[in-house]
Amino acid sequence: MAEECLFTLLHLSYIRVKRFFLFLLPMYRDRGLVSPVACYSIIPMSYSGFLNEDTTGRVENLFPAECTVFSLVQWASRLLQNYRIETPRLDAEIILAHLLKCERIDFHIHPEKPVEDTPAIQYKAAILKRIQRVPLQYITHHAEFMSLDFYVDERVLIPRPETELLVEAVLKKQSLLSGEHEIIIMDIGTGSGNIPVTLAKKTNTTRIFAIDISEDALAVAKINAQKHHVLSKITFLCGDIYKPMNGYAMESRVHFIVSNPPYIAHHEFDTLQEEVRKFEPYGALISGRDDLSMFKCIIKDAQIWLKPGGFIFFEVGEKQAYKVAQLLEDTHDFKKAEFIKDYQHINRIVVAQMEEMRGKNRN
Ligand code: GLN
Repeated sequence: MAEECLFTLLHLSYIRVKRFFLFLLPMYRDRGLVSPVACYSIIPMSYSGFLNEDTTGRVENLFPAECTVFSLVQWASRLLQNYRIETPRLDAEIILAHLLKCERIDFHIHPEKPVEDTPAIQYKAAILKRIQRVPLQYITHHAEFMSLDFYVDERVLIPRPETELLVEAVLKKQSLLSGEHEIIIMDIGTGSGNIPVTLAKKTNTTRIFAIDISEDALAVAKINAQKHHVLSKITFLCGDIYKPMNGYAMESRVHFIVSNPPYIAHHEFDTLQEEVRKFEPYGALISGRDDLSMFKCIIKDAQIWLKPGGFIFFEVGEKQAYKVAQLLEDTHDFKKAEFIKDYQHINRIVVAQMEEMRGKNRN
């Protein structure tokens, strides 16, 4: 009898401790009653098994019987952590917020809010995808680029923050051309359409040709152009580099050629992150045996399309900037290239202006 009483007492304390860790502590933290430092050292204990009743490691079986936002996020965070996903809690919250169409902050305000069966089942399926390393953006179908929201799926490369530097460089040069009636831009390898859509959105008098060899990618780019109401400013063309431009009479009329081409060499493929290697489109990443082959093709005929004094902008891989600048210099059609560094101080963008007089530098 005494044993039974002791057990009940212990069990009740256990429930209280659990409640404290899982519900009250985050709430106290959010209200500023407990210092965040204390929480960050205590809360992870509740996720790392300190309160885990199942010691077998079969975390999938622990899918909560009663689904609240908190119990679901807790389940998912632990599972993602066990599978060594880099930001388990963040991913768990982003996916749930996406399915419930709410903000992540709402979870902290109402952690006990019940979640209905349908979204709970969808959540489980989404988390199981994430542990197979499907990128978060392909699960939520959202990627942010220059503060705009882009639809993405496995047909296109997920826009990267470095590419924002490319767009910013174009916008800067464009502001110098205020006297021009219409600015003509060509984006080669348009993918999700992040570059042309952002440029169309942020400028007034532009006509953009968005070219991609993949019909699938162009379908996604069109979704994004529609979503941001710039469909009428962009001509989408399917084909290899400049080929689909034939017939538009744009020879020597283009102000800017822009491209973030595939620039990873075939032999580097295995070094890529698992998410990238398994799920992002191979053709959007890998340039072939020679990592510079796409740059060479684009540079070779650039002078046919560029207006004298027009600019070419490339995003390049690590250690490629000087080689790409050399390729441009070798044509004798361009002035000395400029580089723009990314957040890791790598020369990431190469910009070169075509001579006003073609072949001026030729010997
Ligand atoms: N232009 C797209 C981007 O920058 C796609 C690039 C690509 O497919 N290589 O994200």
